Amino acid sequence: MAFKKLAMITQEADGWQVPDWRRLQADLVTGVGELCERLSLRPDQIPGGADDDSAFPLRVPRRYLDLIEPGNPDDPLLLQILATGREREAVPGYNADPLDESRHTPVPGLLHKYHGRALLVVTGACAVHCRYCFRRHFPYQEHLSGGRWQQALDWLARRTDINEVILSGGDPLTLSNRRLGELLEALAALPHLRRLRIHSRTPVVIPERLDEGLAALLASPRWRATLVLHANHPREISPALAERCRALGRGGVTLLNQSVLLAGVNDDAEALASLSDALFEAGVLPYYLHQLDAVAGAAHFAVPDARARDLHAALRDRLPGFLVPRLAREEPGAGSKTVLAG
Ligand SMILES: *Cc1c(COP(=O)(O)O)cnc(C)c1O
Ligand code: SF4
Repeated sequence: MAFKKLAMITQEADGWQVPDWRRLQADLVTGVGELCERLSLRPDQIPGGADDDSAFPLRVPRRYLDLIEPGNPDDPLLLQILATGREREAVPGYNADPLDESRHTPVPGLLHKYHGRALLVVTGACAVHCRYCFRRHFPYQEHLSGGRWQQALDWLARRTDINEVILSGGDPLTLSNRRLGELLEALAALPHLRRLRIHSRTPVVIPERLDEGLAALLASPRWRATLVLHANHPREISPALAERCRALGRGGVTLLNQSVLLAGVNDDAEALASLSDALFEAGVLPYYLHQLDAVAGAAHFAVPDARARDLHAALRDRLPGFLVPRLAREEPGAGSKTVLAG
């Protein structure tokens, strides 16, 4: 196993212990004051004002703060995690359930919208709270109460037309390897499931989450697993993340990335092209570049479609086709994601 070797060599070389991602996951900043202090910012420097009383509270692992430039209120990574007064602006067309997901929930904890694929909301927890999140108002309690995953597993067992299961959330990689292993074992027993996909932003904020145990789970001969990372900016592809992605790739996992196009964060051809480059170096291919879902509180991140198309065209001019993500949007009622530019 590539991971084991890597960890052992490093440990033998300098006695360094593999960091425990659980410890890193618990090492959080949850207060605006502390965040500003740590990043040498004054709260009055923040556009819209820092908001310490958001219903979707600030939550960011200290590990991620290492990637943020101190003293820069416009840092593209900071903008993704800092709760501000701008989230309180009510903007017409932006609401709590922009995708009408409640219509596609045959049993709690499972979304079925697209042919052959079902999405499992395996947990409500996330390692980080992203300010643009389209699930920020998601009624996780309703989805995860009671029988937990059993109802979803029973539904999947009946639905032999489903051949791909997508673990999502919340963030499935906030679960322990043991809990994840139990779920994968139950899913592996359903013979019609041929593909396993995991969507996660956790590795971007805590690269150590891609540990040996996870690599072993995903290397199962039962299926070829796909991990879809959610990175939005080239600086998020840290050397630590790239190293662990490459190791997972060597273990046979297919690695893709999906980003959200965000004003002030990555609405810039240079940033997007560098992101594709950095992903490729890490063995990850760009998959989707998403237009923002119209969720209340995130309107200030929106990029107009015309500008999004221009950015996509600029990427096409600069990069090989396989490093250009599809520009897409999720539309309620559509049979697939709507591709604005391919
Ligand atoms: C995005 C999404 C999928 C996966 O769509 P792909 O185009 O296959 O990546 C599946 N189910 C739901 C509910 C989704 O939102
Ligand atoms: S990790 Fe994903 S689900 Fe969780 S807050 Fe961020 S965008 Fe939302």
